[in-house]
Amino acid sequence: MAAKTAFIDFVELKNRVGIEQMARMALGDLNKKGQAFKAPCPLHGGEITISPHVVFKRDGTLGVFCCHSSAGSQGGDGIGLVAHVRQIGQKEAADLIASHFGPNPGEPRKPAPAVMPERISANPPREAQADLAAKLGKIAAELKPEHEAVQALDIDADTAKTWGVGWKGNGPFGGRVLFPLKDHAGVLKGFACFSPEKSPNWLLPDNIDPEHFIFGADAVQDGGHIVIAATPADVVRASQYGDQAVCFLTQEKTAYQAELFAALLARKNCTW
Ligand SMILES: [Zn+2]
Repeated sequence: MAAKTAFIDFVELKNRVGIEQMARMALGDLNKKGQAFKAPCPLHGGEITISPHVVFKRDGTLGVFCCHSSAGSQGGDGIGLVAHVRQIGQKEAADLIASHFGPNPGEPRKPAPAVMPERISANPPREAQADLAAKLGKIAAELKPEHEAVQALDIDADTAKTWGVGWKGNGPFGGRVLFPLKDHAGVLKGFACFSPEKSPNWLLPDNIDPEHFIFGADAVQDGGHIVIAATPADVVRASQYGDQAVCFLTQEKTAYQAELFAALLARKNCTW
C-alpha cells in the first residue's frame, strides 16, 4: 500500500480517479444504464445511481452518486460514495482511494495469477435473461457430480454437489466437467468447462466476460483468509481441505479485476 499522506487534494484525486473506478472499488459490479451506472446499496438495500458526467457543484469536478432508499436519498461525489458505502469519513475515504489506486490508476498493482480459459467469442449474444436462466438451470440439473472425470480432479462427489460441479455428457460443452459461474448476487451466469484432454483445457461460453467473474467469490465467508488459486478446480479442491480460495478467469489480472477483488475483500472483511 502507498504511504498515507497527511494532506490529500480531493479535487486532484477526483480528476485522477473517476467516480466509476471509485464505485467499482466500493461496490464491485455495476450495471450500466445509459450514461449512468447502478448498483444495490449494501447498507440501505436500495439502489445507488452513479452519474460520471454530472458536475459536483461544490468544486466543479465530474461525477456524483445518489443512494435511493426508504431511509431517504443521500448523495455526493465519488469520495462521498466510498465514505457512504464504507461508513467512514471523507478524509478516510480519500486516503483509501489514494492508496488503493496508487499514482497510476490504470495500472494493475498486483502480479497476475495464472489461469487460462479461452473465450470462444468476444461478442456476447443478446439472449433474453429468462431464457438463459432456464437453459442454465436445465444444464445444472443434468450435471453428474459423481462422474469419474470429477473424481479424477480429486473432487469428491459431495463437494462437487455443494459447488454445483459436474460432468456434462453431451450437447454443447459435452465431454467436459462444468464449474458454475455466478455473479456476486449468486445468480448462475454460465459455466467454466474443463477437459484434461481437449484443447483448450478450459472453455467459457460466449455470454461470459471472464474479466467480470471471480470464481468462488459467491462462496466466500465473512472474515476469513482468501487464497488465490490457479483454476476453478483448485478453488473447489481447496474447499475440501477447509481452505477458502478464489480464482480469476483470465491469464492477466486487469486493474478492473484488482478492484473487484479489493471490493470482495472489503465486503467480506477478508485478508489474502
Ligand atoms: Zn445507501
